[in-house]
Amino acid sequence: MEKDVVIIGAGAAGLMCAIESEKRNRSVAVLEHAEKIGKKIRISGGGHCNFTNINVTSDKYLSHNPHFCKSALSRFAPHDFIAMLEKHGVKYHEKELGQIFCNESSAEIVNMLLNESKKSGIEIRLNCHISEIRKEDYFIISTNLGEFQSKSLVIATGGLSYPELGTTGFGHGIAKKFGIRVTPVKPALVPLTFSQKDISTFAELSGISINASVSCNNKEFLGDILFTHRGLSGPAILQISSYWNQGDAININLLPAMNVYELFLSKRESKMEIKNFLSRYLPKRFAQRWCDLYIQAKPICSYTEKELKGIAHKLHNWEIKPKETEGYKKAEVTLGGIDTGELSSKTMEAKKVAGLYFIGEVIDVTGQLGGYNLHWAWASGYAAGQYA
Ligand SMILES: Cc1cc2nc3c(=O)[nH]c(=O)nc-3n(C[C@H](O)[C@H](O)[C@H](O)COP(=O)(O)OP(=O)(O)OC[C@H]3O[C@@H](n4cnc5c(N)ncnc54)[C@H](O)[C@@H]3O)c2cc1C
Repeated sequence: MEKDVVIIGAGAAGLMCAIESEKRNRSVAVLEHAEKIGKKIRISGGGHCNFTNINVTSDKYLSHNPHFCKSALSRFAPHDFIAMLEKHGVKYHEKELGQIFCNESSAEIVNMLLNESKKSGIEIRLNCHISEIRKEDYFIISTNLGEFQSKSLVIATGGLSYPELGTTGFGHGIAKKFGIRVTPVKPALVPLTFSQKDISTFAELSGISINASVSCNNKEFLGDILFTHRGLSGPAILQISSYWNQGDAININLLPAMNVYELFLSKRESKMEIKNFLSRYLPKRFAQRWCDLYIQAKPICSYTEKELKGIAHKLHNWEIKPKETEGYKKAEVTLGGIDTGELSSKTMEAKKVAGLYFIGEVIDVTGQLGGYNLHWAWASGYAAGQYA
């Protein structure tokens, strides 16, 4: 079957690219190996799809080249995606930190993309397994559903996270086959795990959530941290995980909105034990355990000012060294991917291979938590759709 454009992967980036490319009267086929489209969109944002963020700027993205994403982001803004939703009557709302979610469910986004694709006559082939790709004057894609030929080939196969949804290293493999560099990859936006010793130390805290500020490698995020039975999760931990490397300690400010030393001084004469006093500001179970681990059990009035200063410092700078991450199984995204130096930031086309494009998570552009990753998928898909 001959098409102008073949897109591999019917996720956020692939579908956006297909819709845009078809608007230019290109004939488009999307080849998807799963039995349905947009599986990651469906589970995103806890089922409500945090599809963009009003604060999209390049500094919300990690990449070996932090400038690469600027061009695509400047041509597809959050309001462009919102306009598409409004056209289809999909209701949405803004939550904290500029995050925008669907009112009803993520499936509405998938249906919207499907309706746009159907209306345009884009051919979506599900359960399509690719056995070989080669390039002559055009690309030849051999699959279990027959052979496809196209002038443009767009790789939109995503990263390695959530393997149960059918993610593969396919895009990275294709890049390597065509001599295109891939930067090292690792799980990101992922819970961190404790060493065996820390698992036993903090086991009883599982389920406790604290609003804290977490920092590592000159990055800091304010948000909830959640103790799990294996380590730490919650938005602030997921955010910092993208900047954390094995062996690093993370620094947790347990009471970021307060000056704990001044608080202690205001209770200088109190006969209350610190763990009971701290239970006013931190979850009781956590305050008790933390104090049992790090400080002597005695009333505030029995401490010297130097000791109180030390305790306050530790509460503002609690260091903990995670052992590793929960891995791709629980990571929202993959850090790293197709080396941006290999691609045109305007078109997403490979510099070495005319007609070959990469879009979405497969590229070495990784967003922070909050709708930035889906926005990158839309923006890079839109960019390639203007040229592929
Ligand atoms: C649990 C979870 C929640 C998330 N929540 C959010 C959120 O709320 N907001 C946000 O911005 N981001 C979120 N993300 C991240 C976001 O979903 C991804 O960054 C985004 O979907 C990437 O889009 P993509 O099109 O590049 O890749 P994908 O959405 O992964 O799509 C790739 C497609 O390619 C297909 N494919 C793979 N290999 C092949 C192959 N060999 N042949 C044919 N097809 C293939 C896959 O089946 C898939 O359909 C979340 C991720 C997870 C795991």
